[in-house]
Amino acid sequence: MIDSWKDNTAKSNEHWKWQGETGLKYDLVSSFLSLGRSIFAYTYVAFRTIRKMISIGTFTQLIAAESSLNGAIGGMVNSVTELVKRCNYAYEYVLFMEYPAALKKGSKPVEKKSHEIEFRHVSFSYPKTDRKVLEDVNIRITPGEHLSIVGLNGAGKTTFIKLLCRLYDPTGGQILLDGTDIREYDYTQYMEQFAPVFQDFKLFAFSIAENIAFDDKDADITALTDRVGLHEFVEKLDKGTDTSIFKFFDEEGVEPSGGEQQKIAIARALYKDAPVVILDEPTAALDPIAEYEIYKQFNSLVGGKSAFYISHRLSSCQFCDHIAVFSDGRIAEYGTHAELESIPDGIYARMFEAQAKYYRD
Ligand code: ADP
Repeated sequence: MIDSWKDNTAKSNEHWKWQGETGLKYDLVSSFLSLGRSIFAYTYVAFRTIRKMISIGTFTQLIAAESSLNGAIGGMVNSVTELVKRCNYAYEYVLFMEYPAALKKGSKPVEKKSHEIEFRHVSFSYPKTDRKVLEDVNIRITPGEHLSIVGLNGAGKTTFIKLLCRLYDPTGGQILLDGTDIREYDYTQYMEQFAPVFQDFKLFAFSIAENIAFDDKDADITALTDRVGLHEFVEKLDKGTDTSIFKFFDEEGVEPSGGEQQKIAIARALYKDAPVVILDEPTAALDPIAEYEIYKQFNSLVGGKSAFYISHRLSSCQFCDHIAVFSDGRIAEYGTHAELESIPDGIYARMFEAQAKYYRD
Protein backbone atom coordinates (compact mmCIF):
# COMPACT_ATOMS: atom_id res chain seq x y z
CA MET A 1 0.00 0.00 0.00
CA ILE A 2 2.83 2.36 0.93
CA ASP A 3 4.62 1.57 -2.35
CA SER A 4 1.45 2.28 -4.29
CA TRP A 5 0.97 5.52 -2.35
CA LYS A 6 4.58 6.58 -3.09
CA ASP A 7 4.10 5.71 -6.75
CA ASN A 8 0.95 7.75 -7.05
CA THR A 9 2.40 10.67 -5.11
CA ALA A 10 5.41 10.68 -7.46
CA LYS A 11 3.06 10.69 -10.50
CA SER A 12 0.95 13.43 -9.01
CA ASN A 13 4.07 15.52 -8.14
CA GLU A 14 5.31 15.09 -11.71
CA HIS A 15 2.03 16.48 -12.97
CA TRP A 16 2.12 19.48 -10.64
CA LYS A 17 5.75 20.12 -11.62
CA TRP A 18 4.79 20.05 -15.31
CA GLN A 19 1.86 22.36 -14.62
CA GLY A 20 4.07 24.71 -12.59
CA GLU A 21 6.79 24.84 -15.25
CA THR A 22 4.34 25.40 -18.10
CA GLY A 23 2.49 28.04 -16.09
CA LEU A 24 5.79 29.73 -15.14
CA LYS A 25 6.69 30.42 -18.80
CA TYR A 26 3.39 32.16 -19.42
CA ASP A 27 3.53 33.97 -16.10
CA LEU A 28 7.02 35.27 -16.89
CA VAL A 29 6.00 36.50 -20.36
CA SER A 30 2.91 38.16 -18.95
CA SER A 31 4.88 39.77 -16.09
CA PHE A 32 7.59 41.08 -18.43
CA LEU A 33 4.97 42.50 -20.80
CA SER A 34 3.26 44.22 -17.93
CA LEU A 35 6.59 45.52 -16.60
CA GLY A 36 7.58 46.78 -20.04
CA ARG A 37 4.27 48.53 -20.46
CA SER A 38 4.60 50.19 -17.05
CA ILE A 39 8.24 51.26 -17.64
CA PHE A 40 7.31 52.76 -20.99
CA ALA A 41 4.25 54.56 -19.61
CA TYR A 42 6.05 55.91 -16.52
CA THR A 43 9.10 57.07 -18.48
CA TYR A 44 6.97 58.75 -21.10
CA VAL A 45 4.77 60.55 -18.59
CA ALA A 46 7.75 61.48 -16.38
CA PHE A 47 9.59 62.81 -19.43
CA ARG A 48 6.62 65.01 -20.37
CA THR A 49 6.29 66.25 -16.81
CA ILE A 50 9.98 67.15 -16.53
CA ARG A 51 9.70 69.00 -19.83
CA LYS A 52 6.74 70.78 -18.24
CA MET A 53 4.52 69.60 -21.09
CA ILE A 54 2.02 68.33 -18.53
CA SER A 55 1.31 69.38 -14.95
CA ILE A 56 2.06 67.35 -11.81
CA GLY A 57 -1.72 66.88 -11.41
CA THR A 58 -2.02 65.36 -14.86
CA PHE A 59 1.05 63.22 -14.13
CA THR A 60 -0.59 61.68 -11.05
CA GLN A 61 -3.81 61.20 -12.94
CA LEU A 62 -2.08 59.44 -15.83
CA ILE A 63 -0.09 57.19 -13.49
CA ALA A 64 -3.31 56.18 -11.72
CA ALA A 65 -5.00 55.59 -15.08
CA GLU A 66 -2.10 53.39 -16.22
CA SER A 67 -2.30 51.34 -13.08
CA SER A 68 -6.03 50.73 -13.44
CA LEU A 69 -5.62 49.96 -17.15
CA ASN A 70 -2.96 47.42 -16.17
CA GLY A 71 -5.35 45.90 -13.64
CA ALA A 72 -8.20 45.83 -16.16
CA ILE A 73 -6.12 44.12 -18.83
CA GLY A 74 -4.86 41.56 -16.28
CA GLY A 75 -8.43 40.94 -15.13
CA MET A 76 -9.62 40.47 -18.69
CA VAL A 77 -6.86 37.96 -19.48
CA ASN A 78 -7.71 36.06 -16.30
CA SER A 79 -11.42 36.02 -17.14
CA VAL A 80 -10.78 34.71 -20.64
CA THR A 81 -8.49 31.93 -19.37
CA GLU A 82 -11.00 31.01 -16.68
CA LEU A 83 -13.79 30.99 -19.27
CA VAL A 84 -11.84 28.64 -21.54
CA LYS A 85 -11.03 26.39 -18.59
CA ARG A 86 -14.66 26.19 -17.45
CA CYS A 87 -15.90 25.64 -21.00
CA ASN A 88 -13.75 22.51 -21.02
CA TYR A 89 -15.46 21.21 -17.90
CA ALA A 90 -18.89 22.18 -19.27
CA TYR A 91 -18.05 20.42 -22.53
CA GLU A 92 -17.54 17.11 -20.71
CA TYR A 93 -20.83 17.63 -18.91
CA VAL A 94 -22.72 18.45 -22.12
CA LEU A 95 -21.19 15.38 -23.81
CA PHE A 96 -22.31 13.25 -20.89
CA MET A 97 -25.85 14.64 -20.88
CA GLU A 98 -26.19 14.16 -24.61
CA TYR A 99 -24.83 10.61 -24.53
CA PRO A 100 -27.34 8.50 -26.43
CA ALA A 101 -29.33 6.08 -24.25
CA ALA A 102 -28.20 2.50 -24.74
CA LEU A 103 -31.65 1.16 -24.02
CA LYS A 104 -34.30 1.21 -26.69
CA LYS A 105 -37.33 2.98 -25.32
CA GLY A 106 -40.71 2.43 -26.92
CA SER A 107 -43.95 4.32 -26.65
CA LYS A 108 -46.57 1.64 -26.05
CA PRO A 109 -48.57 2.41 -22.87
CA VAL A 110 -48.59 -0.09 -19.98
CA GLU A 111 -51.67 -0.56 -17.85
CA LYS A 112 -51.08 -1.00 -14.10
CA LYS A 113 -52.48 -4.52 -13.63
CA SER A 114 -51.31 -8.11 -13.21
CA HIS A 115 -49.13 -9.20 -16.10
CA GLU A 116 -47.95 -12.33 -17.77
CA ILE A 117 -44.17 -12.27 -18.10
CA GLU A 118 -42.26 -14.51 -20.47
CA PHE A 119 -38.53 -15.00 -21.08
CA ARG A 120 -38.10 -16.50 -24.53
CA HIS A 121 -34.64 -17.88 -25.40
CA VAL A 122 -33.02 -15.07 -23.42
CA SER A 123 -29.23 -14.89 -23.43
CA PHE A 124 -27.09 -12.20 -21.92
CA SER A 125 -23.45 -11.17 -21.63
CA TYR A 126 -22.44 -8.08 -19.68
CA PRO A 127 -21.06 -5.24 -21.84
CA LYS A 128 -17.41 -5.74 -22.80
CA THR A 129 -17.42 -9.41 -21.74
CA ASP A 130 -17.81 -12.57 -23.82
CA ARG A 131 -19.07 -14.91 -21.12
CA LYS A 132 -22.76 -15.73 -21.36
CA VAL A 133 -24.15 -15.06 -17.89
CA LEU A 134 -27.59 -16.23 -19.05
CA GLU A 135 -28.04 -18.74 -21.84
CA ASP A 136 -31.29 -19.69 -23.50
CA VAL A 137 -33.51 -18.94 -20.50
CA ASN A 138 -37.15 -19.83 -21.09
CA ILE A 139 -39.80 -19.26 -18.46
CA ARG A 140 -43.38 -18.04 -18.29
CA ILE A 141 -44.80 -16.41 -15.16
CA THR A 142 -48.57 -16.18 -15.12
CA PRO A 143 -50.37 -13.12 -13.65
CA GLY A 144 -50.23 -13.18 -9.86
CA GLU A 145 -47.76 -16.06 -9.73
CA HIS A 146 -45.14 -16.14 -6.99
CA LEU A 147 -41.80 -17.42 -8.24
CA SER A 148 -38.83 -18.26 -6.10
CA ILE A 149 -35.43 -18.06 -7.76
CA VAL A 150 -32.63 -20.05 -6.22
CA GLY A 151 -29.15 -21.16 -7.20
CA LEU A 152 -25.55 -20.85 -6.15
CA ASN A 153 -23.71 -17.50 -6.16
CA GLY A 154 -22.97 -16.31 -9.67
CA ALA A 155 -25.65 -18.52 -11.25
CA GLY A 156 -27.31 -15.49 -12.88
CA LYS A 157 -30.30 -14.85 -10.57
CA THR A 158 -29.73 -11.12 -10.12
CA THR A 159 -28.94 -10.72 -13.80
CA PHE A 160 -32.31 -12.31 -14.61
CA ILE A 161 -34.02 -9.67 -12.44
CA LYS A 162 -31.88 -6.85 -13.87
CA LEU A 163 -33.01 -7.78 -17.38
CA LEU A 164 -36.63 -7.85 -16.26
CA CYS A 165 -36.21 -4.39 -14.71
CA ARG A 166 -34.58 -3.10 -17.89
CA LEU A 167 -31.26 -2.23 -16.34
CA TYR A 168 -29.86 -4.03 -19.39
CA ASP A 169 -31.39 -5.40 -22.58
CA PRO A 170 -30.92 -9.10 -23.44
CA THR A 171 -28.17 -9.79 -25.98
CA GLY A 172 -30.31 -12.59 -27.42
CA GLY A 173 -33.97 -13.58 -27.27
CA GLN A 174 -36.88 -11.58 -25.94
CA ILE A 175 -38.64 -10.70 -22.72
CA LEU A 176 -42.39 -10.34 -23.21
CA LEU A 177 -44.92 -8.61 -21.00
CA ASP A 178 -48.43 -9.67 -21.92
CA GLY A 179 -47.10 -10.93 -25.26
CA THR A 180 -45.27 -7.73 -26.25
CA ASP A 181 -41.50 -7.24 -26.24
CA ILE A 182 -40.72 -5.04 -23.22
CA ARG A 183 -38.55 -2.78 -25.41
CA GLU A 184 -41.70 -1.53 -27.11
CA TYR A 185 -43.24 -0.17 -23.93
CA ASP A 186 -42.99 3.36 -22.61
CA TYR A 187 -40.00 3.12 -20.26
CA THR A 188 -41.44 5.13 -17.35
CA GLN A 189 -44.78 3.33 -17.43
CA TYR A 190 -42.99 -0.02 -17.65
CA MET A 191 -40.87 0.80 -14.60
CA GLU A 192 -44.01 1.66 -12.66
CA GLN A 193 -45.00 -2.01 -12.86
CA PHE A 194 -42.11 -3.10 -10.61
CA ALA A 195 -41.30 -2.62 -6.95
CA PRO A 196 -37.87 -4.20 -6.49
CA VAL A 197 -35.85 -4.37 -3.30
CA PHE A 198 -32.27 -5.19 -4.23
CA GLN A 199 -29.51 -6.47 -2.00
CA ASP A 200 -27.84 -3.08 -2.02
CA PHE A 201 -30.87 -0.86 -1.42
CA LYS A 202 -30.15 2.59 0.03
CA LEU A 203 -31.95 4.48 2.77
CA PHE A 204 -31.75 8.27 2.92
CA ALA A 205 -30.93 10.35 5.99
CA PHE A 206 -34.56 11.53 6.05
CA SER A 207 -37.40 10.47 8.33
CA ILE A 208 -38.72 6.90 8.29
CA ALA A 209 -41.95 8.16 6.70
CA GLU A 210 -40.05 10.01 3.96
CA ASN A 211 -37.94 6.94 3.29
CA ILE A 212 -41.10 4.97 2.65
CA ALA A 213 -43.45 7.41 0.93
CA PHE A 214 -41.24 10.47 0.37
CA ASP A 215 -43.54 13.52 0.43
CA ASP A 216 -46.88 11.72 0.27
CA LYS A 217 -48.56 13.08 3.40
CA ASP A 218 -51.66 10.89 2.92
CA ALA A 219 -49.81 7.58 3.03
CA ASP A 220 -50.65 5.36 5.98
CA ILE A 221 -47.05 4.88 7.10
CA THR A 222 -47.93 3.18 10.38
CA ALA A 223 -49.94 0.54 8.55
CA LEU A 224 -46.94 -0.12 6.31
CA THR A 225 -44.42 -0.32 9.15
CA ASP A 226 -46.78 -2.60 11.09
CA ARG A 227 -47.07 -4.88 8.08
CA VAL A 228 -43.34 -5.40 7.78
CA GLY A 229 -42.96 -6.05 11.49
CA LEU A 230 -41.56 -2.68 12.55
CA HIS A 231 -44.34 -2.00 15.05
CA GLU A 232 -42.15 -2.34 18.17
CA PHE A 233 -39.25 -0.49 16.60
CA VAL A 234 -41.43 2.54 15.75
CA GLU A 235 -43.27 2.45 19.06
CA LYS A 236 -40.03 2.95 20.98
CA LEU A 237 -39.25 6.17 19.08
CA ASP A 238 -40.48 9.48 20.54
CA LYS A 239 -41.28 10.93 17.14
CA GLY A 240 -42.55 7.63 15.69
CA THR A 241 -42.24 7.44 11.93
CA ASP A 242 -41.13 11.10 11.82
CA THR A 243 -37.83 10.12 13.42
CA SER A 244 -34.85 10.69 11.15
CA ILE A 245 -32.82 7.74 10.03
CA PHE A 246 -29.09 8.13 10.79
CA LYS A 247 -27.52 11.06 12.60
CA PHE A 248 -26.08 12.97 9.62
CA PHE A 249 -28.61 15.80 9.78
CA ASP A 250 -30.37 15.12 13.05
CA GLU A 251 -28.69 14.38 16.38
CA GLU A 252 -31.83 12.60 17.53
CA GLY A 253 -31.84 10.36 14.48
CA VAL A 254 -31.98 6.62 14.93
CA GLU A 255 -29.49 4.09 13.58
CA PRO A 256 -31.60 1.08 12.54
CA SER A 257 -29.99 -2.35 12.55
CA GLY A 258 -29.36 -4.09 9.21
CA GLY A 259 -32.56 -6.09 9.61
CA GLU A 260 -34.62 -3.00 10.47
CA GLN A 261 -33.21 -1.17 7.46
CA GLN A 262 -34.26 -4.02 5.22
CA LYS A 263 -37.76 -3.94 6.65
CA ILE A 264 -37.98 -0.19 5.90
CA ALA A 265 -36.85 -0.91 2.32
CA ILE A 266 -39.53 -3.58 2.01
CA ALA A 267 -42.16 -1.18 3.37
CA ARG A 268 -41.09 1.25 0.63
CA ALA A 269 -41.69 -1.43 -1.99
CA LEU A 270 -45.10 -2.17 -0.50
CA TYR A 271 -45.97 1.53 -0.61
CA LYS A 272 -45.27 1.65 -4.35
CA ASP A 273 -48.16 -0.76 -4.79
CA ALA A 274 -46.79 -2.03 -8.11
CA PRO A 275 -48.23 -5.13 -9.82
CA VAL A 276 -44.88 -6.97 -9.68
CA VAL A 277 -42.84 -7.18 -6.49
CA ILE A 278 -39.24 -8.33 -6.46
CA LEU A 279 -37.20 -9.21 -3.39
CA ASP A 280 -33.60 -9.87 -4.34
CA GLU A 281 -32.12 -11.16 -1.11
CA PRO A 282 -32.89 -8.00 0.81
CA THR A 283 -33.36 -10.15 3.87
CA ALA A 284 -29.76 -11.37 4.13
CA ALA A 285 -29.21 -9.38 7.35
CA LEU A 286 -32.26 -10.92 9.01
CA ASP A 287 -32.01 -14.00 11.13
CA PRO A 288 -33.63 -17.09 9.58
CA ILE A 289 -36.75 -16.87 11.73
CA ALA A 290 -37.29 -13.15 11.01
CA GLU A 291 -36.76 -13.86 7.31
CA TYR A 292 -39.24 -16.71 7.40
CA GLU A 293 -41.79 -14.44 9.10
CA ILE A 294 -41.23 -11.59 6.61
CA TYR A 295 -41.60 -13.86 3.61
CA LYS A 296 -44.68 -15.54 5.05
CA GLN A 297 -46.25 -12.18 5.84
CA PHE A 298 -45.09 -10.69 2.57
CA ASN A 299 -46.55 -13.49 0.57
CA SER A 300 -49.99 -12.81 1.96
CA LEU A 301 -49.46 -9.04 1.69
CA VAL A 302 -48.61 -9.09 -2.00
CA GLY A 303 -51.64 -11.30 -2.51
CA GLY A 304 -52.69 -11.27 -6.14
CA LYS A 305 -49.55 -9.48 -7.34
CA SER A 306 -46.78 -11.28 -9.16
CA ALA A 307 -43.75 -11.76 -6.98
CA PHE A 308 -40.14 -12.81 -7.54
CA TYR A 309 -38.12 -13.89 -4.54
CA ILE A 310 -34.41 -14.53 -4.56
CA SER A 311 -33.15 -15.98 -1.35
CA HIS A 312 -30.37 -18.23 -0.20
CA ARG A 313 -32.60 -19.73 2.41
CA LEU A 314 -34.95 -22.17 0.84
CA SER A 315 -37.59 -21.75 3.54
CA SER A 316 -39.00 -18.91 1.43
CA CYS A 317 -39.59 -21.30 -1.48
CA GLN A 318 -42.37 -23.09 0.29
CA PHE A 319 -44.71 -20.09 -0.07
CA CYS A 320 -44.18 -19.83 -3.81
CA ASP A 321 -46.15 -21.37 -6.64
CA HIS A 322 -43.03 -22.33 -8.54
CA ILE A 323 -39.30 -22.49 -8.00
CA ALA A 324 -36.72 -21.87 -10.72
CA VAL A 325 -33.28 -23.24 -9.94
CA PHE A 326 -30.53 -21.38 -11.79
CA SER A 327 -27.25 -23.06 -12.55
CA ASP A 328 -24.54 -21.65 -14.82
CA GLY A 329 -26.91 -19.18 -16.43
CA ARG A 330 -29.63 -21.69 -17.23
CA ILE A 331 -32.80 -22.76 -15.51
CA ALA A 332 -31.71 -26.23 -14.48
CA GLU A 333 -34.84 -27.19 -12.55
CA TYR A 334 -38.34 -25.78 -12.45
CA GLY A 335 -41.41 -26.87 -10.48
CA THR A 336 -43.07 -26.79 -7.09
CA HIS A 337 -41.26 -27.44 -3.84
CA ALA A 338 -42.66 -30.97 -3.66
CA GLU A 339 -41.71 -31.74 -7.26
CA LEU A 340 -38.14 -30.48 -6.94
CA GLU A 341 -37.57 -32.04 -3.56
CA SER A 342 -38.38 -35.42 -4.99
CA ILE A 343 -35.84 -35.27 -7.84
CA PRO A 344 -33.16 -37.76 -6.80
CA ASP A 345 -29.80 -35.96 -6.49
CA GLY A 346 -31.38 -32.80 -7.92
CA ILE A 347 -29.74 -29.40 -7.25
CA TYR A 348 -32.73 -28.17 -5.25
CA ALA A 349 -33.09 -31.40 -3.32
CA ARG A 350 -29.41 -31.29 -2.36
CA MET A 351 -29.53 -27.60 -1.37
CA PHE A 352 -32.68 -28.13 0.66
CA GLU A 353 -31.30 -31.19 2.42
CA ALA A 354 -28.03 -29.38 3.23
CA GLN A 355 -29.94 -26.49 4.84
CA ALA A 356 -32.51 -28.64 6.59
CA LYS A 357 -29.73 -30.77 8.04
CA TYR A 358 -27.98 -27.65 9.30
CA TYR A 359 -31.10 -26.52 11.18
CA ARG A 360 -31.86 -29.99 12.47
CA ASP A 361 -28.34 -30.43 13.79
P1 ADP B 1 -26.33 -14.41 -8.66
O1 ADP B 1 -27.36 -13.35 -8.41
O2 ADP B 1 -26.94 -15.71 -9.06
O3 ADP B 1 -25.36 -14.58 -7.51
P2 ADP B 1 -25.37 -12.62 -10.75
O4 ADP B 1 -26.52 -12.55 -11.68
O5 ADP B 1 -25.18 -11.45 -9.80
O6 ADP B 1 -25.44 -13.99 -9.92
O7 ADP B 1 -24.03 -12.81 -11.54
C1 ADP B 1 -23.86 -13.78 -12.56
C2 ADP B 1 -22.48 -13.63 -13.16
O8 ADP B 1 -22.37 -12.40 -13.84
C3 ADP B 1 -21.37 -13.67 -12.13
O9 ADP B 1 -20.36 -14.52 -12.62
C4 ADP B 1 -20.88 -12.25 -12.05
O10 ADP B 1 -19.50 -12.21 -11.82
C5 ADP B 1 -21.23 -11.70 -13.42
N1 ADP B 1 -21.56 -10.27 -13.34
C6 ADP B 1 -22.48 -9.70 -12.53
N2 ADP B 1 -22.54 -8.37 -12.72
C7 ADP B 1 -21.63 -8.09 -13.68
C8 ADP B 1 -21.23 -6.89 -14.35
N3 ADP B 1 -21.79 -5.71 -14.07
N4 ADP B 1 -20.27 -6.99 -15.29
C9 ADP B 1 -19.69 -8.17 -15.59
N5 ADP B 1 -20.04 -9.34 -15.02
C10 ADP B 1 -20.99 -9.31 -14.07
